Amino acid sequence: MITSSLRTQNTNTPWKESLRKAIRDPNELMQILGLPKTSSSLMTALSSSFPLLVPRSYVARMRKHDPNDPLLLQVMPDARELLEIPGYSLDPVGDRHAEPLPGVLHKYHGRLLLITTGACAVHCRYCFRRHFPYAESNPARRDWQSAIDYIRCHTEIDEVILSGGDPLMLDDEKLQRLIRKLDAIDHLRRLRIHTRLPIVIPERVDDALLAWMRESRLQLIVVTHVNHPNELDDEVGNAMLLLHDAGAFLLNQSVLLRGVNDCSDVLSKLSMRLFETKVIPYYLHLLDPVRGSAHYDISEKTAKGLIRDLRQRLPGYMVPRLVCEKAGEPNKTPVLDN
Ligand SMILES: *Cc1c(COP(=O)(O)O)cnc(C)c1O
Ligand code: SF4
Repeated sequence: MITSSLRTQNTNTPWKESLRKAIRDPNELMQILGLPKTSSSLMTALSSSFPLLVPRSYVARMRKHDPNDPLLLQVMPDARELLEIPGYSLDPVGDRHAEPLPGVLHKYHGRLLLITTGACAVHCRYCFRRHFPYAESNPARRDWQSAIDYIRCHTEIDEVILSGGDPLMLDDEKLQRLIRKLDAIDHLRRLRIHTRLPIVIPERVDDALLAWMRESRLQLIVVTHVNHPNELDDEVGNAMLLLHDAGAFLLNQSVLLRGVNDCSDVLSKLSMRLFETKVIPYYLHLLDPVRGSAHYDISEKTAKGLIRDLRQRLPGYMVPRLVCEKAGEPNKTPVLDN
């Protein structure tokens, strides 16, 4: 069953238009920011499996003429990605061992994570999923039926997490079909959506999306991914308010990244700005040691110092939990600062 309001959605939807117009050419990005051209042979080497992709509204939040802009540093390919450094692997979090079905990750008690799509609206260079074999892991085949059957058989699961890639890259029609199937499973209580789309293309939060969110009987949690306060402009703030008004709890996870947010001033501004947009800082992740990301890494000692600073400067509810992910652990591992 497809509602008529969603049927009218087509490729001219504003968010899809923004995605279509996203920047894919490193030199175009450099030109917009008033920075020198990059070496094209280097970009070819870097782009084969994980090319540059960044929407224009996100670029508009970058500072001109600044090669070290914290938003630019998250998306611009870098020669150091080609280094093979011991300890930085293709599957650092052991996801391939927790996959009972393609695209279904059941690592933690009561929560099941669905890889809904491999696609994202932005390519973050440090992403631990950049080497994930999405083509083999597609639970959307046969309209999610095997994933739905698996959840039905596991009555201890009370929360489904839609992840990716980015689940909000899927059409609202498709998402609505999936959510209706989940709604019909009695033991489910919560639906969580891990997404960066409202941040990089805030117009993704449109009427069609809010309609299926409001329709679901499940408690809805939207977990955004923001690393720097400059990512949160008024348009993003507005998108967050719309999600909040539709009944979603809003949480954020960040990754601690060298040169981007490894400073307590930036992190405390980030927490405050998140809270102003109704978002609670949830996790601050130590970088997963994925191949090609070593140049973003921060030592555990520095990370603990940053959290200690935040705890002194901010109300407790604005201090994110510092965690890392270890293969085989039954939960995200807290990194304690004592
Ligand atoms: C992070 C993660 C979750 C959710 O963990 P929470 O601590 O509940 O946020 C669930 N499943 C997988 C596979 C994860 O990586
Ligand atoms: S949006 Fe998320 S999944 Fe996609 S590249 Fe960025 S960090 Fe990775």
